[in-house]
Amino acid sequence: MTQDFDIAIVGGGPAGLAAALSLHRLRPELSLAVIDAGHAPVDGRASMLAPSSWRLVENLGLAKALSGKMLDVSDMLISDGVAGEAASPLSLHFSDSDHMRGGVAQPLGHMVQNADLTDALRSAVDASGITQITARVTDSAPGTLTLDNGQTITAGFIAAADGGRSVLRRRAGIETTGWDYLQSGIVTTIAHELPHEGCAQQLFLPSGPLALLPLIGDAEHPHQCSIVWSEDAAAAKAALALPVDLFTAELARRMGDLYGKIETIAPLQSWPLKMQLAKSYHSDKLALVGDAAHIIHPLAGQGLNLGLRDAAALAQSVADGLAVGEILGGPNMLGRYSRWRKSDALQLAAMTDGLEKLFSNRIAPLRHLRRLGLGAVDRSDTLRSFFMREAAGETGDVPGLLV
Ligand SMILES: Cc1cc2nc3c(=O)[nH]c(=O)nc-3n(C[C@H](O)[C@H](O)[C@H](O)COP(=O)(O)OP(=O)(O)OC[C@H]3O[C@@H](n4cnc5c(N)ncnc54)[C@H](O)[C@@H]3O)c2cc1C
Repeated sequence: MTQDFDIAIVGGGPAGLAAALSLHRLRPELSLAVIDAGHAPVDGRASMLAPSSWRLVENLGLAKALSGKMLDVSDMLISDGVAGEAASPLSLHFSDSDHMRGGVAQPLGHMVQNADLTDALRSAVDASGITQITARVTDSAPGTLTLDNGQTITAGFIAAADGGRSVLRRRAGIETTGWDYLQSGIVTTIAHELPHEGCAQQLFLPSGPLALLPLIGDAEHPHQCSIVWSEDAAAAKAALALPVDLFTAELARRMGDLYGKIETIAPLQSWPLKMQLAKSYHSDKLALVGDAAHIIHPLAGQGLNLGLRDAAALAQSVADGLAVGEILGGPNMLGRYSRWRKSDALQLAAMTDGLEKLFSNRIAPLRHLRRLGLGAVDRSDTLRSFFMREAAGETGDVPGLLV
């Protein structure tokens, strides 16, 4: 059976679902299909949605579905540490007063579980009448998809949001550049004794950064954090093989007495960490969105935020192009999208990679210098405001749905 759509979106992760909803919001007359293989394991990660990403959530009508599941982040603390020692006093601290809008202090971000965000996006896609197909794409050609259920899909163009190992990117012959960090990111949730007070912490340890991302608690565990513990691949493998009490003890040693006694309350998951950037974000009747286009180190917590910006930018490129009579999925429309998003992703990738290299260096004089550097940024209003706007996703050409 063959079905035809204006746009087929492959991938029902956050980037693909947000792209479908953004396109529907700006051009409701377009026929859209979201195709996802299904059966992906539950994503145990949580993400801090940057202020611009939160505006997308609001503009897509998802804020209500996420209320009660989302926590405002009021502070961010970045410090250079050594496992078992107190964090250096030369740290970098941002608070909501660094992020003013209309004279009012705004949260630095909103913490949500990825699974809750994806559920809210999927429910909104259901409610919008967008076609959803559960099947795996096994082959593709410009404007055509072959699915493992025997169906063929044709479309004006295809948005490939099928993740870092994108089949569509490979079938289109789009090359990637990048490298492996030879690290894994271990993710879990911990309950802790002392409150986090809405503060997100990034502790740069010699073996890799440890992020403590505050979550909304519940009656059983009122104080909770999501953990992203980046560690050399072999050490991560060993940590993942430990019984849970020994794993927790290892984690506690790295955290010091930051939040008092801790307990691991969710399964452990891990991802290999790498930088992977597609050389182009489009080809004939194909646009890459989210991790299919770019994977960056999670230390700045920006990968998902980048994917949401892709989604909004793709919808705007389509709407703007159609408004001036461009062909749907033609080279002008998709080329404009590709150039727009590539520069944003490249800038963030360079920044996160630079930070990874700077902080993974164990040489003592360099450690001293970078601590001084963090202290210097902390004391400079100009630099603080620059980093704040970058992290908020409010620099450069911002898509209308993020404003
Ligand atoms: C350890 C770690 C921590 C992170 N923390 C943060 C953070 O704090 N903040 C942040 O902003 N980002 C973070 N990120 C990045 C973020 O999680 C990813 O960028 C984001 O989840 C990618 O979403 P996506 O929709 O592009 O891809 P995915 O979530 O990978 O979705 C791809 C979808 O495509 C489907 N699919 C794949 N192949 C096919 C096919 N052939 N046919 C049909 N369907 C297919 C899959 O089933 C899946 O549903 C982190 C990343 C890691 C590794």
